[in-house]
Amino acid sequence: MPLAIIGKKRLRLRYWKHFLDDCNVKKEGKRKAPPIRFQTKSTAAIQQRTEDVNAQSLKGLVIRSTGSWYDVRDEEGLAWRCRLRGKFKFQDLKVTNPVAVGDRVYWEIENETTLQGTINDIFPRQNYLARQSVHKTAHAHLLAANIDQTIIIATLSFPRTSLGFIDRLLVVAESFRIPSVVIFNKQDLFDDDIKAYQQELIDMYQNLGYQSFGTSSVTGEGVSQFSDLLQNKVSVLSGHSGVGKSTLLNVIAPHLDLRTNEVSTFANKGVHTTTFAEMFELSPNTFIIDSPGIKELGLSEINKAEIGHYFPEIRDLLNECKFDDCLHIDEPKCAVKAAVEAGQIAMSRYESYLSMIGGGDNRR
Ligand code: GDP
Ligand code: ZN
Repeated sequence: MPLAIIGKKRLRLRYWKHFLDDCNVKKEGKRKAPPIRFQTKSTAAIQQRTEDVNAQSLKGLVIRSTGSWYDVRDEEGLAWRCRLRGKFKFQDLKVTNPVAVGDRVYWEIENETTLQGTINDIFPRQNYLARQSVHKTAHAHLLAANIDQTIIIATLSFPRTSLGFIDRLLVVAESFRIPSVVIFNKQDLFDDDIKAYQQELIDMYQNLGYQSFGTSSVTGEGVSQFSDLLQNKVSVLSGHSGVGKSTLLNVIAPHLDLRTNEVSTFANKGVHTTTFAEMFELSPNTFIIDSPGIKELGLSEINKAEIGHYFPEIRDLLNECKFDDCLHIDEPKCAVKAAVEAGQIAMSRYESYLSMIGGGDNRR
């Protein structure tokens, strides 16, 4: 029983300083903003640097990274292979990689024939996805930056996506203040019973503030809604292998010609994709980030007491529990448990919460 391992230790809530004042948190509404992970002085330092950046530099977007070089898309859509300027260093930047896919950068041309360039500086980030570095635990490893939304593609079967998996991705996205959408694919395969159950899930996620709908690449259901959702945005697409991510993208952007139904598919190809994200251009302002890394993002670095902040419906009730350090397990006068019992908080969400508090993995 995972609950047994939860100590009664008093956990002090640590609120990260919210430096992302200009962060567009569209779905927050009246809700309190959750704390953000991996806040360091570094981004403030970047913002400082950017103020006196060379006005002569070109502007570009990092669409691919290997760690030693970066593909920078210029304003005409041409990709340049760039390195970081030698003196390009962030003294107090506590990340293992200074530049991530999605970063907007200032750069200059080094060689017009070989399409090589140098990155001089980066724009302030709207947000980012990061995980704790495997090698340096005090450091974060950036996966992607400037993300408008994460889109979770799920299937109730063929293969079955667990609600725990969906909720875990939602928590990860919340922890970086990235809006999320939950899509249930392969509608054509399901009978009325499954569809009715799915509708309940869609309603549940919608009520929590996450846009949610069904799609099918076979019948075309929801495909235009999916396409509209992506327009002029940078989206991180996530979900298990086989749920139909590549197929959906191929329907709306045939020019991508993504391989489907193979071992090597959209979310599972190349050697560096587990570490570095890659960006696909659907149309000039519409990008998809392929980041298998998001599935691997752990919750281990989130303090148990903070996990509740990343469930919007729990966050709403945090001030109403009797104890400030209530973990909503079996404490007396717990507003969260009361809401679960009253049916105001979905049991599946509460179970996902308990699983995360108990150190459950939910990566499957
Ligand atoms: P990915 O790993 O998420 O990129 O999944 P793929 O796009 O490779 O799809 C996996 C399999 O599911 C392929 O055989 C697709 O033809 C199939 N598939 C994808 N979307 C649908 C759908 O909406 N309905 C049905 N019935 N099959 C689908
Ligand atoms: Zn409580």
